[in-house]
Amino acid sequence: MRKIKALLSLIIVLFLFQNAAAEIQSPRDFLGFEVGADRKLADMNQIIEYFMILGEQSPCIQVQEVGKTAMGNPFIVAVVTSENNHKHLGKYRQIQQRLADPRKLGPEEAEKLISEGKAVVMVNCSIHATEIAACQMSMELAYDMATKRDEATREILDNVILILTPMHNPDGIQMVVDWYKKYLGTEYEGGRMPWLYNKYVGHDNNRDWFMFTQEETKLTIKVHNAWHPHVIVDMHQMGSTGPRLFVPPFVDPYEPNIDPILRQEVAMMGTFMATELTSEGKAGVMHSMGFDAWTPARAYHHYHGGIRILTEAASVQIATPIDIPEERLSPQVKQESVSMPLPWKGGKWTLRDIVDYDYSAVRAVLTNAARLRENWVRNYYRIFKNAVERTEPPYSYIIPEKQRDLSTALKMLDILKTGGVEIHRAEKSFTAGGFEYPEGTFIVYMAQPFGGFAKTLLEPQVYPEIREFQGGPLKTPYDVVGHTLPFLMGVEAVKADEPLEAETKIVKEITKPSPAIDLKKGALFYAWGHDSNDDIVAANRLLDKGYEIFWAAEEFSSGGTLYPEGTMLVRCSDRTGDDLKEASKNLIVRFRGMEEDPGIKVYSFRKPRIGLYKSWTASMDEGWTRFVLEQFEFQYESLFDKDIRAGNLAEDFDVIIFPDLSDRSIVQGMPEEAVPPEYAGGIGETGVKNIDAFIQNGGTLVTLNSSSEFAIKRLHVGVENRASGLKRNEFFIPGSLLAVINDCDHPITYGYERDAVVFFRRSPVFKVFDGKSVVKYAPEALLSGWVSGEEHLTGQSALVDIPFGKGRVILIGFPAQYRAQSHGSFKYFFNSLFYGASTLKDM
Ligand SMILES: [Zn+2]
Repeated sequence: MRKIKALLSLIIVLFLFQNAAAEIQSPRDFLGFEVGADRKLADMNQIIEYFMILGEQSPCIQVQEVGKTAMGNPFIVAVVTSENNHKHLGKYRQIQQRLADPRKLGPEEAEKLISEGKAVVMVNCSIHATEIAACQMSMELAYDMATKRDEATREILDNVILILTPMHNPDGIQMVVDWYKKYLGTEYEGGRMPWLYNKYVGHDNNRDWFMFTQEETKLTIKVHNAWHPHVIVDMHQMGSTGPRLFVPPFVDPYEPNIDPILRQEVAMMGTFMATELTSEGKAGVMHSMGFDAWTPARAYHHYHGGIRILTEAASVQIATPIDIPEERLSPQVKQESVSMPLPWKGGKWTLRDIVDYDYSAVRAVLTNAARLRENWVRNYYRIFKNAVERTEPPYSYIIPEKQRDLSTALKMLDILKTGGVEIHRAEKSFTAGGFEYPEGTFIVYMAQPFGGFAKTLLEPQVYPEIREFQGGPLKTPYDVVGHTLPFLMGVEAVKADEPLEAETKIVKEITKPSPAIDLKKGALFYAWGHDSNDDIVAANRLLDKGYEIFWAAEEFSSGGTLYPEGTMLVRCSDRTGDDLKEASKNLIVRFRGMEEDPGIKVYSFRKPRIGLYKSWTASMDEGWTRFVLEQFEFQYESLFDKDIRAGNLAEDFDVIIFPDLSDRSIVQGMPEEAVPPEYAGGIGETGVKNIDAFIQNGGTLVTLNSSSEFAIKRLHVGVENRASGLKRNEFFIPGSLLAVINDCDHPITYGYERDAVVFFRRSPVFKVFDGKSVVKYAPEALLSGWVSGEEHLTGQSALVDIPFGKGRVILIGFPAQYRAQSHGSFKYFFNSLFYGASTLKDM
């Protein structure tokens, strides 16, 4: 009888499960085609809708809209785990949070939490929208998790909490799918879209993981901080002729603040994945190639207890299959090797193939996480234990409250705080390194759970010397090398190599002090500073209100106060008091009333009419420039090839900006065979003539970084780029922070002291024959990062102002607005825009 009962209940259970599966719609039924089918793609709306359906139909899947993207679309995340685990999600999140701070845990309590905790895996699909297979795959993965009840799937559901981001860049997915469908069946099928696949930054959207500027980054960090997953899978695609799939281990170097446990875990997980894929017969899986683990811009996780598993699959043409005969494969993958024992032999390669490889890769991660659940949770705890028990210098960083640009210093602290770093503030004065610091000084202690994140962002980077082979040349870095925030942002931070004795309190929220307006009855002028980026925003707001702005071209004194060169002034009217109040909202700015006319020479200007060149080559730098201009309240118009070819630019613009683009990209643009005719060709010879005429008639051209090549080559300005023609082994700086010296009398340097820092990335180096050298490289310029061939910089110029007809060309030979990170050099750029629209006159 008992046996019959047991059999009966088994039948009921099986029936229920079958029924559960039957009630859940498959991606195929929903889409009307198989995921990954040739020339078929689900778009953003379909993916969202399908996940919403799964969320309703499956007790194992919860779908949350975390917020809105830059373009206002829903950003969704699906939490996938067993029904029982779903009932206790709050408890598991709590366990993650508590294990991340071993200072507050006894050993027994920690053991209890380790035994109860779950492995947490986050999968981010298609952050780069053209690398589209992963977001398609995500639907199938979620469906299988909702419906399959084999032992392996159950093991995953019971032991793992999967946080699945089906699209990290929903806006981009929609754009890419729309573009693909529009040109399906034409000669442009699977071709390149001539604009960025998100509102501002395109492919750079995975270089934002310490500055947190973009909405999608902020939303992911919010989810990340709630869970601190043990494993983060970041799914990409690369070129077509290499391996079919890259998985870690990475190659050297690792950024030194990443815990060794974590580095071993990356290798363990990567090789486990490679083994699983190979055992399934999936050929061409390679590890230990090309990709390193240096920059935190791609790897927030490495400082928050989680490994980053990068996957890079070989691409097709979006959803159009390709055929690669073996002879076209790159040499590194034709032979078997330690890192790829089963090479792929060439042939047809399809979107479905990538979906299959991606699927297997994620399943392998989930299997590993489920089976080694306890190891993952325990190691996570040990990583934080190492962090809080740190006993070597530096012990802390001191950030004085008295800063040249306090607002930017607070932004820097806010970045650290977003990354979970505790910031302390002195309640009383204290001494460190022989200096006395007043009450209110900020202190960041290194021995704390996320101390590694703070340390890497506060200290100078020293890139290791790695040789290509024994006795061979130095290996050049894969990505940007220097990310020291005090240098990037122009903030003073002091390293303390001795333990500090200070009475402090944890800062709950970073708040800005209120603006100050020293109203004066009968004031003729109001003056304010030029030191901070907030001072520039105040200028923009007053320009919007119709004010003429003056920059003092010499120092002066008024009412007993000495005002330096560069002081900004507006003339007083009846409504100025109210206008200043509005203009200073949320800014750290101080306006002072002056009763007398200073009687000095000034640069004066009204609101500059700015044109920003937008190339159909889809320039990320153009997007970042737009973003930075908007953040600091500049108004601009985008200028397309056709606008520049049409001419009469002086009628509408005072200043034209060329973002970081080669001369070829500007003049020739996209080749005819690559894009539909309306997007082909650049500004052309006509455009060159029109730019020339614009400047001759009084306009200003500002070139950023490599676009100086245009000015040198096409306008024949009297400057030579000493870096052009130098080979990579002679001169190479892939993204480092360098010391510069300002000519402090030039208005572009107003607000700076003599010494400053700029970010240099594959930048030109100017020798000036004709024109004013405004900023020069300091001797021994390297402050953070990596330089080879430093002698080529010595004594040369970084920024040049060249009179040209009635106008001028300003060559900013470094990315002054780099990825919205280099706050410290924004003012070179901002000042250039105002100065370009100014005239020098007596006040
Ligand atoms: Zn990618």
